[in-house]
Amino acid sequence: PQSKLPALGTTIFTQMSALAQKHNAINLSQGFPDFDGPEYLKHQLSVHVAAGANQYAPMTGTPALRNAIAAKTALLYGYQPDADSDITITSGATEALYVAITALVSAGDEVISFDPSYDCYAPAVQLAGGVMKRIQLQPPAFKVDWAQFAAQISDRTKVVIINTPHNPTATTWRAEDIDQLWQIIAERNIFVISDEVYEHICFAENGHASVLRHPQLRQRAVTVSSFGKTFHMTGWRVGYCVAPAAISVELRKIHQFLTFAITTPVQLALADMLREHPEHWQELPEFYQAKRDRLTQGLANSRLKVLPSAGTYFLLVDYSDVSDLDDVAFCHWLVEHVGVAAIPLSVFCAEPFPHKLIRLCFAKREATLDAAAERLCQL
Ligand code: PMP
Ligand code: GLN
Repeated sequence: PQSKLPALGTTIFTQMSALAQKHNAINLSQGFPDFDGPEYLKHQLSVHVAAGANQYAPMTGTPALRNAIAAKTALLYGYQPDADSDITITSGATEALYVAITALVSAGDEVISFDPSYDCYAPAVQLAGGVMKRIQLQPPAFKVDWAQFAAQISDRTKVVIINTPHNPTATTWRAEDIDQLWQIIAERNIFVISDEVYEHICFAENGHASVLRHPQLRQRAVTVSSFGKTFHMTGWRVGYCVAPAAISVELRKIHQFLTFAITTPVQLALADMLREHPEHWQELPEFYQAKRDRLTQGLANSRLKVLPSAGTYFLLVDYSDVSDLDDVAFCHWLVEHVGVAAIPLSVFCAEPFPHKLIRLCFAKREATLDAAAERLCQL
């Protein structure tokens, strides 16, 4: 058939994980933990399977899970979304992002995102007939220039996609950034899709700046999260989005014919986990900060320069003292000759990104982090 996405191959995550396996390398590329999720969560899954909770869940998600998300959101952000009309359970954040983009973007609409941007946004916009306008942010701070952003807005701008804590740069927005965004779009008919899958992995001083804290902006926003990140279960493929009823109605029309509903016993187990063990996500910043610091310290005597990581389970390292190769070539060389797999940053950018930066995932056991650091110190 004629390809609808001719420029696309498989994702960088699929490619690098395959290379890690081929070269028997330590895989710090694709973001997933090399340790298991909570025993309680696994146990509750088996309980619900044994109890026969094995038929279709409601299309929008199991009420127990939607209620638990509403309660958690109220506790965290001082705003309780309506569990029935505003919360939809999806197959990972990836599906939530896809249905949000498909529901909001029509042919010819413009969508603004900030590069480096996570890889699933642009193809969904393209399939919807939208046009991406990608604003390149610069290292090391990757800060938005709001005048530059305002200048990109046109009468066709329909959606702005934001992501904090940010993959791949590990930077975070502050509440002031959310305010700036709101002020620029307030008078226009522009929606926001806020990718907050790392909402619980934020080390920033004032915590995570969710759009759900912003009384006006949240009325125009789809906020996306993922239990894969929060409960160390990326393979369970459960995420969700929070959006006002008028937007949720539209994205649910797509969700109901894309996946219809998400695995019933998994949703029930996640609801139990959220209700019974809030300390799990409350302790997540501390849990991941220790891993971040361990890898950072392990690299202290290397020739790599570690950039600060304020959130996510990634950190960036600058390898300019080690090699002149571009980042993609360097990652190929690194996995083959040093036995460590990493992710190049340029693949998340539309325009050339000539910086010597790669992303390392620290959602790993201490032994894995130490072994990777030892190899990287030999560079
Ligand atoms: N957005 C970002 C920024 C991510 O890092 C990821 C996963 N790594 C996703 C979305 C997709 O999440 P999920 O695995 O729940 O589909
Ligand atoms: N989001 C993960 C990452 O950034 C990858 C997820 C995937 O492979 N789809 O590494």
